[in-house]
Amino acid sequence: MLEIKNLHARIAEDGTEILNGIDLVVKPGEVHAIMGPNGSGKSTLSYVLSGKDDYEVTEGDILFNGESILELGPDERAAAGFFLAFQYPIEIPGVATMTFLKAAINAQRKARGESEITTPDFMRLVKETSAKLNISSDMLKRPLNVGFSGGEKKRNEIMQMALLQPKLCILDETDSGLDIDALKVVSEGVNALRSPDRAFIVITHYQRLLDHIVPDVVHVLSKGRIVKTGGPELALELEKNGYADFVDVAA
Ligand code: ADP
Ligand code: MG
Ligand code: MG
Repeated sequence: MLEIKNLHARIAEDGTEILNGIDLVVKPGEVHAIMGPNGSGKSTLSYVLSGKDDYEVTEGDILFNGESILELGPDERAAAGFFLAFQYPIEIPGVATMTFLKAAINAQRKARGESEITTPDFMRLVKETSAKLNISSDMLKRPLNVGFSGGEKKRNEIMQMALLQPKLCILDETDSGLDIDALKVVSEGVNALRSPDRAFIVITHYQRLLDHIVPDVVHVLSKGRIVKTGGPELALELEKNGYADFVDVAA
């Protein structure tokens, strides 16, 4: 489904190289965890995958279902089935969460040449999904993410994901700032979306999230490269020993 080949990327503004040759293959149905110390390039990888234009790919390729997506913008990647849940979800004052969600669904439908979702269909979908994720109707009326707690923002991201039914979900530190109850709600939301034709890249600094979202494969990122790959036991090892063994590997 996703094949990252020798990916090098830098910050467009000042040319700083952040990703230094990443290779990764993610098959449908798989959950890959990417762990690594702060500053190792985890968020950069998620931004480069989503097509954010603050970053430039200088070498390598990203293939989705066998085709390069490097020339596609963020909207086209989203239409193709990419979804990125940000580490720091953006706040949009003046746009009710509900309005935003409907616009997101319709943008995806439009990109696929489909007609807009009807209001009754949208209301039914939102009601079902928000109930599962413990999201109140009051929260849906508030401006997107404005004044939301960390847990509310993350639940809202998972709600977008559930509504858009993406093929490839990239979760960047979805666990940061969550208490244990919110972590469970978010994890259950993700687990409910696991399916044989959908893949996940779960980026996290801590092993804790992976007790709830059990990955098939765990990778360690250090200085913009994957320096170790293993099974779920690798995450436990990191929890015990920290990242000290890895930070110098790619130096
Ligand atoms: P992580 O998510 O693993 O903590 P990041 O991808 O956020 O790491 O950052 C990797 C490195 O790139 C850090 O040194 C960070 O300061 C730098 N960096 C990332 N994006 C930018 C940017 N837009 N401008 C300047 N520095 C950046
Ligand atoms: Mg960070
Ligand atoms: Mg980060």
